Amino acid sequence: MQNKVVVLGTGGTIAGSATSAQDGVGYVAGALSVAELLQALPGLDAAGIEAESLCRIDSKDMSHAVWRALAQRVAAHLERPEVAGMVVTHGTDTLEETAYFLHRVLGPAKPVVLTAAMRPASALSADGPQNLFDAITIARMGGVNGARGVVAVLAGTVHGAAALRKQNSYRVDAFDSGDAGPLARLEEGRLRSFRPWPDEPGIGLASIEPDAAGWPAVDVVASHAGVRAAAVDGLVAAGAQGLVVAGTGNGTIHVALEAALRRAEAAGVTVWRSTRCAYGAVVGAPDGAFSAAGSLGPWQARIELMLRLLQKRAGPARGA
Ligand code: ASP
Repeated sequence: MQNKVVVLGTGGTIAGSATSAQDGVGYVAGALSVAELLQALPGLDAAGIEAESLCRIDSKDMSHAVWRALAQRVAAHLERPEVAGMVVTHGTDTLEETAYFLHRVLGPAKPVVLTAAMRPASALSADGPQNLFDAITIARMGGVNGARGVVAVLAGTVHGAAALRKQNSYRVDAFDSGDAGPLARLEEGRLRSFRPWPDEPGIGLASIEPDAAGWPAVDVVASHAGVRAAAVDGLVAAGAQGLVVAGTGNGTIHVALEAALRRAEAAGVTVWRSTRCAYGAVVGAPDGAFSAAGSLGPWQARIELMLRLLQKRAGPARGA
């Protein structure tokens, strides 16, 4: 019987603590354990909930090594038949990156629900407890209500991993799903779904090397007025194997940056175009243009390109 939920902690503001309840910015992220976060949920039915701490970091400092370890722990728990779903507590800063990484690597059939908070646990009106409660509610639905795949729940809204974006630096309702719109809302413990939840299979843990230090270096460069192309040359000299351009508008690139990117491409670096715009995709493929990242934002496109390069390296037998 699927009746267990594993809550895996990685840190973030949701586990943050400040010396004053009025202080919403001067706190230490990841100060509290998952067990302490769970204790702060009045009315939670704790039966079947397992708490595990992977790390306690500020997600601005997220690393590929933590991602690899996280994917491994999530995969191991999901394989347990008694586990209905999982919750990952995380910082908001790189939530969309971690969500996309887990989505593309694991593509799980059970729900893996990421959650976070904009205010520390010590705040007068902390948002973490409700978000965590909601995440557990959804994880428990594994196998029913169409709840599956990597999603994030914040402020009562459920976002799919591929569309998730942090859009506000301070407000509690900081996330949206861009043009795609949210997957669902959670209201009084009930899901109101708008469309099917993610069901694409992942590339599999075997496709990504255990030592993240060896993963292909893929960087993001931005196109803007007065851009200095030396950044691109420097990244190539430092071993970049892929570059994602956060382009202006419809993925357009400053002429000076374009010249440097052509040099990079000639040196064997894969270059993709994305957009700095919060909404919309890179549309169309003019002759000779760098490949477009479609609707992926620059940060998610960076992960996608890194995974493609890893898969290429691993060869067809280990992919998908
Ligand atoms: N810097 C924090 C983090 O990402 C911000 C947050 O969680 O809201 O860990």
